[in-house]
Amino acid sequence: MQIVKKKPQFVWRKHVHRNPLPWFNASGIADQQTISSWGAPIIWEGTFDPVERDDFYMKKKTVIGLTVFAIGRYLDRYLRNFLESAEKHYMIGHQVIYYVMVDNVTKVPALQLSPKRSMVVIQVRKYSRWQDISMMRMEQINDLIQNRIQFEASYLFCLDVDLMFVGRFGAEALGNSVAQIHASYYGTPKQSFSYERRPRSDAYIAPYDGDFYYHAAVYGGRVESVFDLTRSCLDGIIRDKSKNIEAIWHDESHLNRYFLDHKPTKLLSPEYCLDRVPAKHIRYARMKWMPKEYRQLREN
Ligand code: UDP
Ligand code: MN
Repeated sequence: MQIVKKKPQFVWRKHVHRNPLPWFNASGIADQQTISSWGAPIIWEGTFDPVERDDFYMKKKTVIGLTVFAIGRYLDRYLRNFLESAEKHYMIGHQVIYYVMVDNVTKVPALQLSPKRSMVVIQVRKYSRWQDISMMRMEQINDLIQNRIQFEASYLFCLDVDLMFVGRFGAEALGNSVAQIHASYYGTPKQSFSYERRPRSDAYIAPYDGDFYYHAAVYGGRVESVFDLTRSCLDGIIRDKSKNIEAIWHDESHLNRYFLDHKPTKLLSPEYCLDRVPAKHIRYARMKWMPKEYRQLREN
């Protein structure tokens, strides 16, 4: 006789009625969207208790990685400031590993890191076009996760170097798959988002489609999720190259396509990566863009 196991009933419904995120206070602020249409929390000052979040991850001894690329003139211009500010504000009190990817290891500033924090400097190839330097980070991060990060950290953030930490960027930002809402497009209609609009590109998003416009300067999550994300974006980039097309905003266009298909489980409000002219609704600044000096810094 064949034994047919009955599926337990109503288990799922029970879970639906429980608050899935007891630490998250969606009504902590009244004037902003704090939950996405698919139920992901949007992190703003006032929606979490920083002490509780730190305790939660410190008890687990969570190791948190951060990748940053500084290639060519970006190395001289931005890296020191980025790292010094990260030492003041990024995941303070936690175990942190910086993965600093450079084309010239001798130029990496010598910094005295706080206890529990370490730095790994990795020499990577320098692509000649800035578009490729930016896009091919997807490949280099993917390789490094496979070869190293997966054995050392459980969460990872991947950041641009032309940023500066100015306030807390802490454990409240950790999640399975974390996307940054682009400050310049927050609150604007999705038709105005600068997604890739040519159907020939892998990054294509139709005019009626989209959730948020995400900023590729900041993304992260559990290491396995970031592995998936970088692999998928890289595949899109390579398919585009084989078709002789390059998405309008390079890796960012592919990232937006990825997050449309794989909804992030946590969203960072514009507080986490502010435009140079912060909007009125911003009460707390965590990270800011540094001045863009493309003419002096980019080589093509
Ligand atoms: N980058 C770099 N050297 C370059 C170009 C880019 O190191 O010549 C890296 C750096 O981490 C930078 C990121 O790629 O922050 C993305 O490029 P950029 O910040 O210029 O793009 P944007 O933020 O303007 O889209
Ligand atoms: Mn940038």
